[in-house]
Amino acid sequence: MAEDFYAMLGVRRDASSDEIKRAYRRLARELHPDVNPDPATQEKFKEISQAYDVLSDPEKRQMYDLGGDPFAGAGAGGAAGFGGFGSAGFPFSEFVDAVFGAAGAGATRGPRSRARRGRNATIRIELDLSECAFGATRELTVDTAVVCPTCSGEGTAPGTHPVTCEVCAGRGEISQVRRSFLGQMMTTQPCPACSGFGTVLPRPCPECDGDGRVRTRRTMKVRIPAGVEDGTHIQLAGEGETGPGGGPPGDLFLEVVQQPHPIFERQGDDLHCTLTIPMAAAALGATVSVESLDGPSDVDIRPGTQSGQVIPLYGLGVKHLSGNGRGDLVIHVTVETPTRLDAEQEKLLRDLAKLRGEESPPGKFQPGQQGFFSRLRDAFNGR
Ligand SMILES: [Zn+2]
Ligand SMILES: [Zn+2]
Repeated sequence: MAEDFYAMLGVRRDASSDEIKRAYRRLARELHPDVNPDPATQEKFKEISQAYDVLSDPEKRQMYDLGGDPFAGAGAGGAAGFGGFGSAGFPFSEFVDAVFGAAGAGATRGPRSRARRGRNATIRIELDLSECAFGATRELTVDTAVVCPTCSGEGTAPGTHPVTCEVCAGRGEISQVRRSFLGQMMTTQPCPACSGFGTVLPRPCPECDGDGRVRTRRTMKVRIPAGVEDGTHIQLAGEGETGPGGGPPGDLFLEVVQQPHPIFERQGDDLHCTLTIPMAAAALGATVSVESLDGPSDVDIRPGTQSGQVIPLYGLGVKHLSGNGRGDLVIHVTVETPTRLDAEQEKLLRDLAKLRGEESPPGKFQPGQQGFFSRLRDAFNGR
């Protein structure tokens, strides 16, 4: 290991992998044999390529830093294979692509396909609470793009087909060698004659004007799973627009808009509602029939029930979107104080108050009680 790989690339020993990559890319542009074919430059190019091969690989770099031979375990695939890299076979743009990916030097990678993936589409779908809770099947009408029936997506008029572009000979790109102060530079651009496709359409399809697709309206049945809520996105793979040139379709997304319910307020998969019961029923206890998403349900009001008390009906909420089970229906009780008493009712209540010694009752604060107000606050804050 006589040579100093860091010095060859002109970077510090603590250079990041990005710095190393940039340094090598800069040197490679100057020294690539396609640009500078003289033997001395080729030799130099091989050296910096070898340095980059080691320093760009964390394992080899560590071994090199420790004074070992980074090519020891690599065998023929290491240094030997690398020697051929710069010297033969690779045109410069392909070489840059191979090392840096297509972003290197702004190079493109041969002709691009006319067929591209279609766009995704999003449709808002309004559902009531019951449909969100149990799922639903809906018929949707969507405006979308489908494969052109006249040309089957090829974009050419019937009886004709795309032909190879004469300007770029089907490569889809045009390369130019330019002299600059750094030496010769090869630049590659998409072919302007064929927009980089490598082919041209002698006669575009009259129905789709060469796009390979036409707009249409179609109806489809979609199944909404149980448990969705406001803002849920449902992905229907491959139900979006067909791509240009007969490319694969994008996806269709349904965005759920949950309509408010007159009685139930949804919090997660639980439903909350307020049940108002008469004072006497709260004191004596009763069985009350309430509405739920599943139909009428009997609720036992225990004797002595207070305003603000909570009665859960387990499993009568919304189905969980993931997996089994359901949320709960949570009933918040409000005890109604009677108004507009007739003479007989008023007398009965006065007699009751006398019996209970409540004609002039002392007011009672109950500090620290986790009662109605905290539950009310929790309900407003979404628990
Ligand atoms: Zn067509
Ligand atoms: Zn062309």
